[in-house]
Amino acid sequence: MRILVLSDIHSNLEALEACLAAAPPYDAVVNLGDVVGYCASPNEVIEISRRLGKVFVRGNHDKAACGLIELHDFNPVAALAAEWTRQQLTSENLDWLRNLPQGPVQVAGLSEIQFVHGSPIDEDEYLITVRDAVEPMMDTAVPITFFGHTHLQGSFVANATHLDAFRPSYKTVGQAESCEVALKKGNRFLVNPGSVGQPRDGDWRAGFAIFDADARVLTFCRVPYDLKSAQDRIFAAQLPTRLATRLAAGR
Ligand code: ZN
Repeated sequence: MRILVLSDIHSNLEALEACLAAAPPYDAVVNLGDVVGYCASPNEVIEISRRLGKVFVRGNHDKAACGLIELHDFNPVAALAAEWTRQQLTSENLDWLRNLPQGPVQVAGLSEIQFVHGSPIDEDEYLITVRDAVEPMMDTAVPITFFGHTHLQGSFVANATHLDAFRPSYKTVGQAESCEVALKKGNRFLVNPGSVGQPRDGDWRAGFAIFDADARVLTFCRVPYDLKSAQDRIFAAQLPTRLATRLAAGR
């Protein structure tokens, strides 16, 4: 079974479309949350996401946009975008967001894999450094966890004695590329497919991953997308300019 793992799309329609056009064949789609927030196509992105599959975990921006959490923990730009998103969303899409499940989520037949937004311990926790990864790696019985939230593509790998971070390396800054890694049996993994709609690892290209669960091969992907169109929508919506400029920088 080949699973397309999407995370942190953040209402970026152009980035989502580019990922779907570039993705190699897959059998199922899993979405790690933050479907909305920051960019300017919330309804379109929700509707495409819902058509792609049924497996979702909710992100903090999904909760904020549908009123499940207050905005005071958000920075002013993120809060403004969440407020704007709430005003744009159809009542059906608001309802759908409210009913997204909290991670960890598992899929029938894939007992070795779980899906979360932040961490297996806390849905809102950021796993950025190796130190952040220690407790969730030790605490969970499931060997492979897919997570998002940080918008940083890569993984943490633990064997009996070591815990290391892995970042895929690419040759270009503007072409579609992929990076394949085998997930060795016996090791434990925390895998971030990267952010579709607002990467923060200095690479502006949309990020996602495909996991072949039978062969245990993980493929990280980056694809260029119509950045200008995504930015123009942000300007037209009169969202903060920073939300458009940061897409170009991948930060
Ligand atoms: Zn996010």
